[in-house]
Amino acid sequence: MQFSLTPFTELRPGIWRAVAQPASVTIGLVVGSTGALVVDAGSSPDQGAEIRAAAAAVAGVPLVGAVVTHAHFDHYYGLAAFDDLTTYGHESLLAALEAPQVAEETAGLGFAPDRLRPPNKPLALARLVDLGDRHVELVHFGRGHTAGDVVVIVPDARVIFTGDLLEQSAPPAMGPDCFLKEWPAALDGILGLVREDTLLVPGHGEPVDRVFAFTQRAEISAVYGQVDYLIGRGVQLEDALAAGDWQFDDETIAAVLPIAYAQLAAEGKVPRTQLRLLPGH
Ligand SMILES: [Zn+2]
Repeated sequence: MQFSLTPFTELRPGIWRAVAQPASVTIGLVVGSTGALVVDAGSSPDQGAEIRAAAAAVAGVPLVGAVVTHAHFDHYYGLAAFDDLTTYGHESLLAALEAPQVAEETAGLGFAPDRLRPPNKPLALARLVDLGDRHVELVHFGRGHTAGDVVVIVPDARVIFTGDLLEQSAPPAMGPDCFLKEWPAALDGILGLVREDTLLVPGHGEPVDRVFAFTQRAEISAVYGQVDYLIGRGVQLEDALAAGDWQFDDETIAAVLPIAYAQLAAEGKVPRTQLRLLPGH
């Protein structure tokens, strides 16, 4: 596995971004007058340490903590390097380290799973981080990309780190642990705060604006809506790709369809053969 980190570049005064490999994940840094906060921690404890050193070098004030936007390895597994500071993330991140795939993922990344650390100050809904002349709001707007997405809001700079609730470099990752039906509502929580000059920093790719976020919200919502519609018309999973009107490429849709069908089945929505009621019977 190739690990690397770009230098931090300044997006707005005191708001920095770097990109870590693997997975081209966004690493953020918010600098205030008395402290700085790292946003997402990279894929391994060693990479987390590299991020910490690079962030400390540009911050000019002490690092006070790190926040993880969700449980996926590329955002979360470097958090151990910040464990002597205050570390934040959704409360579901604690149980996420017990998931069966963690051992497999850490083996693939080249370290032992017992080196991982959960956030030492988990949050259920919201928390405020004081950086002196600037404060940062950490908010869980509900389930979406995962069960525990946390958005990092810097109100005075009008910058929001969205984690993977938004992606710019590829279609959003609609994996088996996402919540397709609820995801648009989580994005509505973000969109309610967004002004014309707000900079949205996705978990992967370049910063985006309000129009991009509205569009991606509609595209994600349309996946659930199309599958709901097709199931209502009795279209089976294997026919859905050809039958639907899709906003994403075929590869993305082919991957998400089994997930969407399973999530709708859990709501009691399964495709049934249509019975026609004939007049005269
Ligand atoms: Zn993710």
